[in-house]
Amino acid sequence: MRMLFASAVIALVGGLTACAGGAPEEPVSSVVAYEGATLITGDGGPPLGGGVLVVDEGVITDVGLAANVTIPEGATIVDLTGKTVMPTLVDLHGHVGFVDDLSFDNANYTREVITDQLDRYAYHGVGVIVSLGTDPGDQAFGIKADQETGILGGARLHTAFRGIARPEAGPGAPTMRPTAFGASTVEEAVGFVEEIAATNADFLKIWVDDRGGSVEKLGPDLYGPIIEAAHERNLRVIAHIFFAKDARELVAAGVDGFAHLVRDVEMDDELVAAIVENDVFVMPNLAVSERGRNAEPPAWVDHPLLAESVSPEVITRIRESYANRTPEAAAQGTESFAMMLRSLKKLSDAGARLVLGADTGIQDHIQGYMEHYELELVVEAGISPAKAIQIATSAPAEVLGVNTGLLARGKRADFLVLDANPMYGISATRQISAVFLAGEELDRESLRSRW
Ligand SMILES: [Zn+2]
Repeated sequence: MRMLFASAVIALVGGLTACAGGAPEEPVSSVVAYEGATLITGDGGPPLGGGVLVVDEGVITDVGLAANVTIPEGATIVDLTGKTVMPTLVDLHGHVGFVDDLSFDNANYTREVITDQLDRYAYHGVGVIVSLGTDPGDQAFGIKADQETGILGGARLHTAFRGIARPEAGPGAPTMRPTAFGASTVEEAVGFVEEIAATNADFLKIWVDDRGGSVEKLGPDLYGPIIEAAHERNLRVIAHIFFAKDARELVAAGVDGFAHLVRDVEMDDELVAAIVENDVFVMPNLAVSERGRNAEPPAWVDHPLLAESVSPEVITRIRESYANRTPEAAAQGTESFAMMLRSLKKLSDAGARLVLGADTGIQDHIQGYMEHYELELVVEAGISPAKAIQIATSAPAEVLGVNTGLLARGKRADFLVLDANPMYGISATRQISAVFLAGEELDRESLRSRW
């Protein structure tokens, strides 16, 4: 990275010379060529050994095997031999503004907290995060706009503004629940759709769940008109679901995406086929459910990357959440989680559009970190590491419509430099050497010292 610095200095000197009215000089190239790394492009294909990635002004201008890429004259060369490069992750399901260390409270919903969280996502190599339906007011839109103009950095924030549920029946966490619009009639529901469509929301979120019988579930009488009204306004609808029956009816009603797998039964072939046929995108959202199968703290709690951004007190609390689990409860959790993995494999084999959605930003579900664990669980389902990476990069970028998530010409130069190759063990995505967003290396060391 010293070379990048040197190139900036040369560019500055060149600029001064030009201003002083001296003889016109060859402009110093702003191009940087990253050589020698194994490239995982994010398209699900095999990795390219000894690849070259050429970046200019924050955009990938060329990528491929060394023999097929011509490095422009004057380019700064960065040697990444021994490293692996892949696109930064795109997570379509998170929640910003609620967590501040041990505290999980809507009082934390401030610009300062949110921008810090976007730095946390970026630190872990998440380049884009969609906050899914829990953003009151216009704070998230302001941050998104400031990122677009370059005033703010961090992972790019997208938002579904406030989602819709039955009254007091939205998000599971009580502190998040008031952010959802509560609809009791079709008229109210459509009014909320209009309100959401009047913002720059990327999606419309609905919650279709009775929370173990404790709340009234949003039914087809309301979500039917919601989906119709949203589609009339070019807004796609993502549903939080739990039951297979609701999933079937939502697909029939034209839903665009699911924020979870069904969790009551294994998905049958008919449901899988309907999802594929209607091109409904599905976020596996595995890591939250996976907790239920452990009677002891799982290995991810001890990974050094976790401790880099999270306080020891939070890690202790996560560890303690596994205490007092009975073997019976863990056995039941194991059974139901295995069922989810089987559903996921079925969806994958059938060609369903799978996209990363990790639900990070709820209490002790660590932003940036748990996205990586989600990848590990996708691979546990029997999906290849190459495809798991596609699910976490180019596939969600395509659904969201953002120009990232792929090492390809014309894409934003958002990429991760890893110390190990995740093709040989997906947890290597956590061995992060550097993160580049729009061609700029993130100063991870200073972020680490801040935390
Ligand atoms: Zn969520």
